[in-house]
Amino acid sequence: MTMLRILCFHRVVLTPQPFDRAYLQRGSAVTVDRFREILDQVAATHRLVDEDEATRILQTGKDAERTCWVTFDDGYRDVLEHALPELERRGILPSIFVTTQTLDGAWRFPVDRWYAAVLGATRHEVELTSFGSPPRAVDLRHVDGWASLVDGPEKQRFIFESAEEQARMLAVLEIALGSRPAPSPPLLSRSDLETLAQRGWRIGAHGRTHRVLAGASEHDLDAEVAGSLHDIAHFGRARSGWFAWPDGQSCSLSRGWLHQHAEGLRLAGGLGLAGGDGGLSAIPRVFAR
Ligand SMILES: [Zn+2]
Repeated sequence: MTMLRILCFHRVVLTPQPFDRAYLQRGSAVTVDRFREILDQVAATHRLVDEDEATRILQTGKDAERTCWVTFDDGYRDVLEHALPELERRGILPSIFVTTQTLDGAWRFPVDRWYAAVLGATRHEVELTSFGSPPRAVDLRHVDGWASLVDGPEKQRFIFESAEEQARMLAVLEIALGSRPAPSPPLLSRSDLETLAQRGWRIGAHGRTHRVLAGASEHDLDAEVAGSLHDIAHFGRARSGWFAWPDGQSCSLSRGWLHQHAEGLRLAGGLGLAGGDGGLSAIPRVFAR
């Protein structure tokens, strides 16, 4: 059995800012101290490998024991600022899977907008209705209430919806919370990605708009998978041979589509534990936090 362990990080923050709170709560951000701790633990017990070696291990099943590959998803700028130096110090070469609409500059991840609405709340006792889940009252002054808005049933539903339905849900949330505009964490630019590529990182695709692709139509798969692969084609030799499913979610149709249409792509990463039935088109990765 293959023992390769694939870690998946999202953000690495130095001094947590108010807007980082939601990401730390969810586990999609770690502090630099925690990041160092994870790397040191894994380096003490595992052989750290790059994408080529990880791919070879998965394809041949050889030399897998106690190996680990580091990956990043989404494309937040703090990865360049805070993760890169720690990884270079340890000689680790990761791959990063970016949602390519981020390269347009002004775009924000749907989840960033959800968190911004929560963090910009001016009302604290709210009644949540019209989210497709049972209405409920939430008190944001209580840590449980706040946490349930960061990653509760409404947000869980939100991330699976179409862009149009997400816009409606956000408008409802912002009105319910009386949200003031709040900032979101900066994203990597094209030139930031060029820098990472020059430093030996592989640049891969993670969809165009982070639309969840389990149950997606062929049209959406074409736009999101083929579109995002097209967007990173100019990275040439630095381009990853992998695709990372947004939210780690795929289905037999989307995996079959990837297999047939994404030429030159070797493997794809999901999230979660080993033992799924996705084969090399949905290889589990560990959500590192
Ligand atoms: Zn993601």
